[in-house]
Amino acid sequence: MVKLGVCLFCVMVNLSNRLVVRRSRAGLGLFAKVNFKKGARIVEYTGEHITSAEADRRGGKYLFTLNKKTVIDGKGRDNLARYINHSCRPNCYAEVNAAETRVFIFAKRTIKADEELSYNYGKEYFADLIKPIGCQCLKCQS
Ligand SMILES: [Zn+2]
Repeated sequence: MVKLGVCLFCVMVNLSNRLVVRRSRAGLGLFAKVNFKKGARIVEYTGEHITSAEADRRGGKYLFTLNKKTVIDGKGRDNLARYINHSCRPNCYAEVNAAETRVFIFAKRTIKADEELSYNYGKEYFADLIKPIGCQCLKCQS
């Protein structure tokens, strides 16, 4: 394989003129580079579509449930939405489309450039993966 000396991930992030991955309170986070209006569609949560059984087998932090049968495994680094951290007082929300095939992240309120994006991961995720280690969100830490 030819080494280009260029990280494809960095290229992709830089190509996004609206969003940027940066260091956050707990590891990495996704930040706005521009202002977003309330209700604006910000980014899609993308990844491989797998069965619930396969999701249980794989485990991991980047599983997004579409419905009882199907889960998105969003662990791929091209899935920018995976860098959005949980918050108990979020500025975004995730919504599954009517066909239950795609997930989009929307602005819950006006978001200014340089703000970190966050959404509420939901009760089940919080109980299983966040509560045991303590929530790092601004609301819980202030
Ligand atoms: Zn919290």
